[in-house]
Amino acid sequence: MSNVSDLLDSVPKGLWLGGKLVPAEKTFAVYNPATGEELAQVADATAADGIRALDLAAAAQEDWAATPARVRGEILRTAFELLHARAEDFALMMTLEMGKSLAESRGEVNYGGEFLRWFSEEAVRIGGRFTQAPAGNGRILVTKEAVGPVLAITPWNFPLAMGTRKIGPALAAGCTIIVKPAEDTPLTMQLLGQVFADAGLPDGVLSILPTSDAASISGPLMEDARLRKVTFTGSTGVGKLLVRNAADKLLRTSMELGGNAPFIVFDDADIDAAVDGAMLAKMRNGGEACTAANRIYVANSVREEFTDKFTAKVAALKVGAGDAEGTNIGPLINTKQLATVTGLVDDAVSKGARVRTGGSAPEGAGFFFTPTVLDQVPADARLLKEEIFGPVAAVVGFDTEDEAIAAANNTEYGLVAYFYTRDIDRAMRVSAKLDTGMVGVNRGAISDAAAPFGGVKESGFGREGGTEGIDEYLDTKYVAL
Ligand code: NAD
Repeated sequence: MSNVSDLLDSVPKGLWLGGKLVPAEKTFAVYNPATGEELAQVADATAADGIRALDLAAAAQEDWAATPARVRGEILRTAFELLHARAEDFALMMTLEMGKSLAESRGEVNYGGEFLRWFSEEAVRIGGRFTQAPAGNGRILVTKEAVGPVLAITPWNFPLAMGTRKIGPALAAGCTIIVKPAEDTPLTMQLLGQVFADAGLPDGVLSILPTSDAASISGPLMEDARLRKVTFTGSTGVGKLLVRNAADKLLRTSMELGGNAPFIVFDDADIDAAVDGAMLAKMRNGGEACTAANRIYVANSVREEFTDKFTAKVAALKVGAGDAEGTNIGPLINTKQLATVTGLVDDAVSKGARVRTGGSAPEGAGFFFTPTVLDQVPADARLLKEEIFGPVAAVVGFDTEDEAIAAANNTEYGLVAYFYTRDIDRAMRVSAKLDTGMVGVNRGAISDAAAPFGGVKESGFGREGGTEGIDEYLDTKYVAL
């Protein structure tokens, strides 16, 4: 298909309740951030719809958990194949509602799809443990059981992958799941609902509830004792709120929250490689990634060389609608995000940062911001503390390794850190000292379905992907024999 109007006509607009598409009582508008124009009206789920979804999830839970792991895995594998068969539709849908370039959207289809493939393979590897009691008076049998119905709340920046990263392991583990996609980008998840319906997922197992009022869905669901788990990706503020709400029922939670990633270039780095890495870590997804390099620390002895080369590459990026030929950087998601990024840049410049390229929003429709490099950024600039979530790089010089590590760790966040060095001893030493859940060494991109993604400190807890990812959806049971 992959023609804009055909795609928008075909995307399911109703509610996916337990795998069946049903009409909604009301709708809300989804906009194209490249133009500010309405793309479509989609179902606006109510609290009652949420409870209907939970009725179906709770009713299906026992059978789904008892479905052979091989069968659960094969359904995930079929979904992976159907997603790829419709890759161009998914890519265009993400570009239309989120703004990223088609090339990046295609990359997300691959990345997002990998969670379905990886967990289709992990489903059959849910193991347990057996041992003799040390006193010799019995046997210890440890089994893993599906947690139960799950609520997944996802952000807008990766409309597909942030969903598959939760749906894949939940289904593999034998959990039923209700997905609440971000209000800015629900259409991609609506398409994924069709994939799972076509893949033969049994009734009741998956519901998708777009809504203009997230708390009206999550609140009643989290008060209902049948819900057993909340998995959330989004801002630290909302994550904290959900953890507080989850305390009442002692719901299990996984929290993938904000980041403030440092990107360190040591004096012994391969500078050209570091520039390429910084382009990826900073400009991927238009800077709208929790893993985005927020603070670029460069050894003063190589700072000018790095900044000159980096600035030249940033200045050459082509800004435009994601579906326009040659676009590298699409618009920001909405006017609020545009105001945030503009405010952070203005604050840094007013405190003395130097604009090497960019620095403002271009004239015209859409929520664009020109890719920007700031150097000589002072320590009190807000963008060194707050997530920028836009194509803005802040370069700061340093003299010693200890100074760089202290600066990198000087944040309440702890998702990912990147650094470039040619010294293996330094690589091991610095990796150990960085207070983050993930470290990229001579790498500007770290995400991989086979690796455990997640943070420490106020970036949250829990891991998605890898062999660890499925544990988030399993309870441990001990049987004494
Ligand atoms: P957000 O927290 O505003 O929204 C995320 C989701 O939470 C959306 O679906 C939203 O509708 C929902 N939500 C908002 N308020 C809610 C409430 N009161 N109750 C229940 N649900 C609510 O975040 P965002 O702006 O959509 O996403 C950007 C943030 O997500 C950034 O901070 C980014 O770092 C983070 N993020 C983290 C990861 C990660 O894996 N660590 C990945 C991507 C994005």
